[in-house]
This record gives sequence, structure tokens and C-alpha cells, in this order.
Amino acid sequence: MHLQRRILVTGGAGFLGSHLCERLLAAGGDVLCVDNFFTGSRKNIEHLLDHKHFELTRHDVTFPLYVEVDEIYNLACPASPIHYQRDPVQTTKTSVHGAINMLGLAKRVKAKILQASTSEVYGDPNVHPQHEEYWGHVNPTGPRSCYDEGKRCAETLFFDYWRQHNLRIKVARIFNTYGPRMHPNDGRVVSNFIIQALLDRDLTVYGDGTQTRSFCYVDDLVDGLIKLMATKDQITGPINIGNPGEFTMLQLAGTIIEMIGSRSRIVHRPLPENDPRQRRPDISRAQELLSWAPRTALREGLTSAISYFEKLLREEGVRATLTAN
Ligand code: NAD
Ligand code: UDP
Repeated sequence: MHLQRRILVTGGAGFLGSHLCERLLAAGGDVLCVDNFFTGSRKNIEHLLDHKHFELTRHDVTFPLYVEVDEIYNLACPASPIHYQRDPVQTTKTSVHGAINMLGLAKRVKAKILQASTSEVYGDPNVHPQHEEYWGHVNPTGPRSCYDEGKRCAETLFFDYWRQHNLRIKVARIFNTYGPRMHPNDGRVVSNFIIQALLDRDLTVYGDGTQTRSFCYVDDLVDGLIKLMATKDQITGPINIGNPGEFTMLQLAGTIIEMIGSRSRIVHRPLPENDPRQRRPDISRAQELLSWAPRTALREGLTSAISYFEKLLREEGVRATLTAN
């Protein structure tokens, strides 16, 4: 007889997925991590491989998957602009076909399923802060569309499976998250600035640096996802999960330079097309329905992210690759 919850984490070898697998195992779950290693790596989950309740399968979610599980966290999808724009067609397929396959699996085995959606469904928002009822301002044909529209379509599929097939769904809209195991080469602002500051190189601020983002520490985010999965069936979301502290990119750059005590200076580079001007989650729904709010202040979270990248840079190969870029 099987007493433990069997939990599938797609994209489990990625940044967020690896932290989630770790926490689910610690809570006594039986975890199946599925990943095609497009942006994730074995290294992120190496420490879990010997755990007797952890299993790893190399699989691309755009193909059907047949496993028996009780819960599914669907995280598979490249998340940084550099990575998701590398093969945009595959990004849309991963979001849309991946959602169809995982929803089909959930329907067959009657599993509860959570979608890792994103604040990008709000696009370049003209409502601030972003509340879940806001429908967004998204360019359907631009360079970010493969990700934004792919994730929007995945949300549509989740809600149609809920309405049409009574599936137990949970949709989390994740805002910018940072912390250890972020990919050093994925071009996201927190990893870029920390690595540049540690190497005493110029920090590349895109545009004038007055655009804002709100940064959530990974442990807080994982708490939010687990709490959302545990809610009663009537709660489907979408629910914003993020840290409402809002910073300009210039403020972030200044903070990182100061914390590291770096000799780096700030330089400006062109602003990427369709780069959102502002972003901050309204988390009142998460506070009310999940009793969740982030606990980690930016400087505290940055301290662990900085130590992680310091350690990474001490590894020969990594330093050489980053120094060559
Ligand atoms: P990540 O790139 O580190 O992880 C994504 C994982 O999915 C990787 O391990 C990758 O190899 C895997 N993957 C990609 N395509 C796949 C496919 N077709 N089949 C199987 N596996 C596949 O990114 P992350 O930051 O950990 O993001 C995880 C999820 O959270 C993504 O769905 C992302 O859209 C969402 N999200 C993240 C953030 C953030 O700030 N990190 C913000 C909003 C939403
Ligand atoms: N950004 C920047 N310098 C960098 C990388 C990013 O100024 O080296 C900016 C980027 O233009 C955006 C913000 O930082 O305004 C967040 O970018 P990221 O790619 O981390 O996430 P997203 O744009 O998807 O929120």
C-alpha cells in the first residue's frame, strides 16, 4: 500500500524546481523529478540523487508522460529572456503542449496540478501594482510573446480543464525570484549584477535603469507554492506569489555594488524590446487565502545569493567561462 504522496515536479532540475524537490522530500513526499535539462542541470539535484524517495527521469514535457502520481507541480519551461528567446517555438510548445500533456496526466490519474505561471501574463502593465483581476497588456507578436502568450495559453488550458473536467487546479503567478542555483549565464538581472560586481566589471544597466522589479527570495516562493498546493479544492488561483518590495534597476545595482564592496561602475546598455516598465505584485489574495507573505528582505536574500555565486566563481571552469563572456 502506498501511503506517501507521490509528487511529480516537471522542470525539477531547474532553479526553482530543485529547491521545491528538496522541500517536498524534507516534508516526507515521494518526489519524481522530470526534466529535459534544457536549462536545468544534474548538479542542481545531485545532492538528492541518493535519497530513497527521489527519482529522476529525463523527459521532454512536450511528449506525453505516463506515471502514477497524486500531485503535479508543472514548472518545466525556460524562464529567463535569454533562454526562452533562444528557441521561441520550443518555448511556446513547452508551455502549451507541456500543459496539455500534464493536464491530461492529471485527468487520467486524478492528480491535483499546479501551474508555475508568471507575472509576464500582465505584460508591460498599465495597472500598478498588479492584481490578479488585471488582464494584462501583452504584445502577442514580440520577442517576449513566446513566453508571455505561452504562459497565458497554459492558464487558459488549466481553467478549461477545471471547468470542463473538474480537475483540481492551482495557478501561481510567480514574480521575479532569485537565490542560490540561479543559472549564472541566463542574463537575469540579479545574477548578472552579482557576477559583474564580484568580478569588478561594469554593471550593465539596460535603459536608464528607472524600470522597476520586485524580487522574491526563493525559499519564500517555494513556501507559497507548497501552501497553494495544500489549499482546499475551491481555491484555484490565479494567485500572485512575489515580494512587493519594488526597486529600480539602478537601486539594485547600487545595493549589490555596496554589499560586495566592489570597484565596479554602472554602465548603460540599450533597453530590450518590450521590457516592462514596472512590476510589483499585489499579494492581498495570497495573504488572505494562503496566510502567506514573503519573509526575506532584499539584502538578506542577496547575502545568500552572493555567497552562492562567490563559491561558484571559485570553481575553475565556471570562472573561466564567465570571464570569457
Ligand atoms: P529554470 O530555467 O531554472 O528551470 C526550468 C526547468 O525546466 C529547467 O530545469 C529546464 O531544463 C526544464 N525544462 C525546460 N523545458 C522543458 C521541457 N520541454 N521538458 C522538460 N523540462 C523542461 O527556470 P526557473 O527560474 O526555475 O523557473 C521555473 C518555472 O517557474 C518556469 O515555468 C518559469 O516560467 C516559472 N517562473 C519563474 C520565475 C523566476 O523568477 N525564476 C518567475 C516567473 C515564473
Ligand atoms: N536588466 C539590466 N541589466 C542586466 C539584466 C537585466 O538592467 O544585466 C534589466 C532588464 O532590462 C529588466 C530587469 O533588469 O528591466 C529585469 O530583467 P530580468 O531579465 O531579470 O527579468 P524580467 O525582465 O523577465 O523581469
